[in-house]
Amino acid sequence: MALSDIRDVAEQRHSRLLYSGTQYANLLLAGLPAPDVGLLTQLLEHVHLTRHLILYEADDPIDYIHFPETAIIGQAVVFEDGGSVVTTLTGPESACGLGVVLDRPHALARAIVLMSGAAARISTANFRAACADSAGLRQAAKRCNTLLISQAHQSAACNAYHPLEGRISRWLLECADRADDEVHLTQEMLAQMLGARRSSVSVIASALQSSGAIKYSRGIIHIVDRLMLEATACECYRAVRQRADYIMRGGPPDELS
Ligand SMILES: [Zn+2]
Repeated sequence: MALSDIRDVAEQRHSRLLYSGTQYANLLLAGLPAPDVGLLTQLLEHVHLTRHLILYEADDPIDYIHFPETAIIGQAVVFEDGGSVVTTLTGPESACGLGVVLDRPHALARAIVLMSGAAARISTANFRAACADSAGLRQAAKRCNTLLISQAHQSAACNAYHPLEGRISRWLLECADRADDEVHLTQEMLAQMLGARRSSVSVIASALQSSGAIKYSRGIIHIVDRLMLEATACECYRAVRQRADYIMRGGPPDELS
């Protein structure tokens, strides 16, 4: 399942959550062939992930693979002064911690919950055992790892090259794609994600609200005019989506609307 399908996630997610428990709101799990998902079904447990929860730090062992359903997990580089910058996002389209299938049992970056919500998780030992019996699972995990590497490349360049306004719009859209156009992020957290000053984020968020692109209320950002926000986002938003389509579908990128 590709990122371009994420706008339909809300409807799919709600219908799947209402389903009997044999379907998954995580699109990676939902898209697996029945024999592959059958290897995981009895081993997955549903958990609620609370915002700010750190799943692991860089160099920590990865004990669980998380498949977000309504939660969004960011991977962040943490600096000596305590500051951090988020480089990748994982929502219902993918999973967090899949580096373990590449014999990389330790985390390369902090994994932190940016938006609270549900997820399914499986122990690393169980997931690796399932992967040993399934080429399909291994292939899906490798695609997700490639997706993360692609995001990290784009973010490194973006942070060095693009102005803050474009980066804020990019990240708001990336979160909104995974969260029904309603982004539960405080400006403080947005500043932490971007490695930016809180005051700078506030100025730009106010300008975006004045223009009618977003509406900000009590820590919830509503995307009011998506096209306007896309117009202010840096090119990285489209680049990440197009490359995600290519990676996850194994074909040429789709035209974006
Ligand atoms: Zn950019």
